[in-house]
Amino acid sequence: TSVLLAAAFLSTAAVQAQKSPQDMDRFIDALMKKMTVEEKIGQLNLPVSGEIVTGQAKNSDVAKKVEQGLVGGLLNLKGVEKIRDVQKLAIEHSRLSIPLLFGMDVIHGYETIFPIPLGLSCTWDMPAIEKSARIAATEASADGIMWTFSPMVDISRDPRWGRVSEGNGEDPFLGGAIARAMVLGFQGTDVNEQLKRNDEIMACVKHFALYGASEAGRDYNTVDMSHNRMFNEYMYPYEAAVKAGVGSVMASFNEVDGVPATANRWLMTDVLRKQWGFNGFVVTDFTGIAEMVEHGIGDLQTVSARALNAGVDLDMVSEGFSGTLKKSLEEGKVSMETLDTACRRILEAKYKLGLFDDPYKYCDLKRPARDIFTKEHRDVARKISAESFVLLKNEPAGTGQNPVLPLAKKGTVAVVGPLANTRSNMPGTWSVAARLKDYPSVYEGLQEMMAGKVNITYAKGSNLISDAAYEERATMFGRSLNRDNRTDKELLDEALKIAANADVIVAALGESSEMTGESSSRTNLDLPDVQRTLLEALLKTGKPVVLTLFTGRPLTLNWEQENVPAILNVWFGGSEAAYAIGDVLFGDVNPSGKLTMTFPKNVGQIPIYYAHKNTGRPLPAGKWFEKFRSNYLDVDNDPLYPFGYGLSYTTFQYSDITLSAPIMGQDGSVTAKVTITNTGKRDGAEVVQLYIRDLVGSITRPVKELKGFEKIFLKAGESKTVSFKITPDLLHFYDYDLNYVAEPGDFDLMVGGNSQVVKTARLILK
Ligand code: BGC
Repeated sequence: TSVLLAAAFLSTAAVQAQKSPQDMDRFIDALMKKMTVEEKIGQLNLPVSGEIVTGQAKNSDVAKKVEQGLVGGLLNLKGVEKIRDVQKLAIEHSRLSIPLLFGMDVIHGYETIFPIPLGLSCTWDMPAIEKSARIAATEASADGIMWTFSPMVDISRDPRWGRVSEGNGEDPFLGGAIARAMVLGFQGTDVNEQLKRNDEIMACVKHFALYGASEAGRDYNTVDMSHNRMFNEYMYPYEAAVKAGVGSVMASFNEVDGVPATANRWLMTDVLRKQWGFNGFVVTDFTGIAEMVEHGIGDLQTVSARALNAGVDLDMVSEGFSGTLKKSLEEGKVSMETLDTACRRILEAKYKLGLFDDPYKYCDLKRPARDIFTKEHRDVARKISAESFVLLKNEPAGTGQNPVLPLAKKGTVAVVGPLANTRSNMPGTWSVAARLKDYPSVYEGLQEMMAGKVNITYAKGSNLISDAAYEERATMFGRSLNRDNRTDKELLDEALKIAANADVIVAALGESSEMTGESSSRTNLDLPDVQRTLLEALLKTGKPVVLTLFTGRPLTLNWEQENVPAILNVWFGGSEAAYAIGDVLFGDVNPSGKLTMTFPKNVGQIPIYYAHKNTGRPLPAGKWFEKFRSNYLDVDNDPLYPFGYGLSYTTFQYSDITLSAPIMGQDGSVTAKVTITNTGKRDGAEVVQLYIRDLVGSITRPVKELKGFEKIFLKAGESKTVSFKITPDLLHFYDYDLNYVAEPGDFDLMVGGNSQVVKTARLILK
């Protein structure tokens, strides 16, 4: 059939022959000459594919619009055959046979699921992150998808915001490196050759801009921020994605400087296009245009015109462009030139994807069986999953001599908790294409791995949470909290019974998938009460307990840190997480993840982040004003676990820093060297982190900023020297007038295994 379809296409449409920019311009000029105003506006329309999904393709409203050339693309339609059929409508039934874009939220894998992005970021392993995006692209493209709404690079310092699970944590430098790795993974590593192959898909960096800074961590809420903070602390990852060649940008829901991002011309045109040179297209977020009516800046026609005039090209779901732009054109509220520019950008994207050459480029029906959820992909996912886990605590239990972890491969291990045996919660938020029923639960995975060696028993122990609202939400996304009808006491008794016969207890506790992610802001970040009660009871048995923590955000774990001997944070580790958990618990893999977001002691400390600034009163105790410092009466200023923190089954020692020279010129560079030794008995990986402090600036500067990192692997007893090349580039920042400068003066270079434990050296910039 695909040969026939291709032949049909050749007879009806112009063929995209070559690929030079001039060829593209000529091709699109010719095509646009043939387009009516309605067809041009149609290219800017990205409606939901709902009716098509339910199998009504031919008769549905959306299908009719496709045939009339009034649709530019569709989102979140799963299945290559469905996609091929809809593409066929566009190619064979619409007047100009312009192919459709098919986009999807392929956020951390397609069917092979990787850890949620926050977990992935804790690997600090750029090749691994790039590989995860590569595999996601391979699988998605095999199923007809050519465009993903990823990466999300919104910096956030507020774990109340549920979407921190989708981002890379609090740091812009690390966030920028990850943004780049993701874009290259999706689109192809050679920026000049991207999107040529049929397993490369277009990325969409989101949500531009500052979505992670919503007030009080409440999703979609107001953002208000100085330009100085924007450019020094939040913008870098978006810019890094643009530099990596990202094909599209998604506007955020929030306002920036009093204007919703979707209508913010300064953001979408001055910064994005003029300052950063972005030349792809901008899509709104889901109903982003219609929502501006609620923001109170005009009716649908007004806000649609404002969005187009601001530099937005594609309207996701609002049908504001398709419903009102013609009228605005007639009334002179938008110009033909602006409409043409937007239309051209969409056509260019399709051209770059090669869709005019072959609209069925992504519709090879042989690919799904060959490329999706393969053993090879799953093996990579298992490795990366284990790499994302962060060992938060590991001490002996009771009067024991050795830390609880790793566990011995013998005896009986009781796996307990509401997250111990639930498959649908393994992949975590935004796993649109996931096989929710096919991924082993922790209990199933451990049983399979340890068959014949360790006796694995299971009890649920408690429900996840005693709040029906969460249940409703989980069901809405096709998952289940598996609420048990037994009483709390019955559940607990069963758990205590198997605990009594076990040598060790693995307590799988935390959040369910839908307690994080979009529209999942929370103000209480403790373990839910029913789970805490279970944990206390398990600890009282006197057996060693490992808290295996599922979470999409930093939780407040003061009590757990004090009372539980071992805590392994496994986030939502994806389709292979159960095996990865087994690998780490039983010591086949030594954990190496490091936090990319500060864990607060309590919610009142939020926002709390390592790259903060000093106040005028960080002063030492003993002075008369000691009681008037910038602190709280009821908790100190330190986090529970700092940025960059994570333990290993081995230990690492850092030498002092040696500098190739103490002084650097504006064109020069200096090398900082540190030797790291694995001083323990196991091989392991360490993330060596470089921080820099600008001691005196024309504006206030953070107490430290991440400016380099390297992940190294050391055999037991082995030493390695890590070199960081320091250039003035790393010392740059945006000054009061937003000039990007490196000011001469003194800098502290700090190297260590987390943001608090560091060796320091002084560098002078001339
Ligand atoms: C989210 C985006 C997502 C889009 C499409 C929105 O609600 O904010 O991140 O890409 O939906 O599914």
